[in-house]
Amino acid sequence: MGRIEYRTGLVHIVSVTRRNVYAAIEAGGTKFLCGIAHSHDEILDSTRIATGTADDTIRQCLEFFRNKAKQYGSPTSFGIGSFGALDPSAGSPRFGWITETPKAGWRYTDLAGPFAREFGVPVGFDTDVNAAALAEYRWGAGQSIVGGTNESTLVYLTVGTGIGGGAVVDGRLLHGLVHPEMGHLKPPRAPGDHEFSGVCAYHGDCLEGLACGPAITERWGVSAEELDADHEAWVRESFYLAHAVVSVTALLSPHLVVLGGGVMGVRGLIDKVRHAAHTAMGGYFPPTWESSNLNDYIVKPGLGETPGLSGAIALAIEAANPTPSRGKSSL
Ligand code: ZN
Repeated sequence: MGRIEYRTGLVHIVSVTRRNVYAAIEAGGTKFLCGIAHSHDEILDSTRIATGTADDTIRQCLEFFRNKAKQYGSPTSFGIGSFGALDPSAGSPRFGWITETPKAGWRYTDLAGPFAREFGVPVGFDTDVNAAALAEYRWGAGQSIVGGTNESTLVYLTVGTGIGGGAVVDGRLLHGLVHPEMGHLKPPRAPGDHEFSGVCAYHGDCLEGLACGPAITERWGVSAEELDADHEAWVRESFYLAHAVVSVTALLSPHLVVLGGGVMGVRGLIDKVRHAAHTAMGGYFPPTWESSNLNDYIVKPGLGETPGLSGAIALAIEAANPTPSRGKSSL
């Protein structure tokens, strides 16, 4: 893009670099958060759209971005961090789709396609929790381990309405067949906890089924917000979250485990998880060699308990500037 500048009668063409404008969508079960940003800490405009039918929700999002394109210019790329399950595999015929989901009316919905077709720009598409993991890696808690290299590994677990986990391995989001589903790990039962059958619609007593916010409500008869910070509920909660941390430590050997989500806002819970994880590790894993309290290994998010648009912005930036595959030629 250029502009013509008149100076002393001569016409100069002055090159002006237009700043990238990223379009971001945090697609949740109750609301879609849409925003336009130059970066994660420079959001130009945003709106919330209640999650209704797929067609209507997507239509309202398109309308928002259409209007913002007139104001800020057409976006460089889109980033969509969504509830799932979904297909994040570039090249797959269902890339950009929400696939199997308990959310009524959203099964097998092409979520990324309408934005890619209308704006003709790259779309980064991943789970909301993978998106949050990438944002934490780039700008949040990961700052303590990235250290100028792209060879660090971080796991992000979120504990709220559900439990999800994402991972950045050697600087890249971990995928595979689809994407990690750490919320559906199967932890051992906490001592004395054998009657509660769990709330997961698919597995009953998986990690999410035993320890997500609705599981706490179901188990204790009151919501997590109504329980005192010293209630026995949090000892049990920390047992399950600690075993999740031990499992991901054994599987991925991350440099850092970040625990986010609304439930982690409970005062003192993270310390209980650290303590229980230290016990469950049995002195075997590296964090327990270096730290008696795991303060530097199990940490709160640097970007707040809920990542907002930062995850989707990270996906948009990644879509515009894909990280080269490690160990592969650029041919
Ligand atoms: Zn489950």
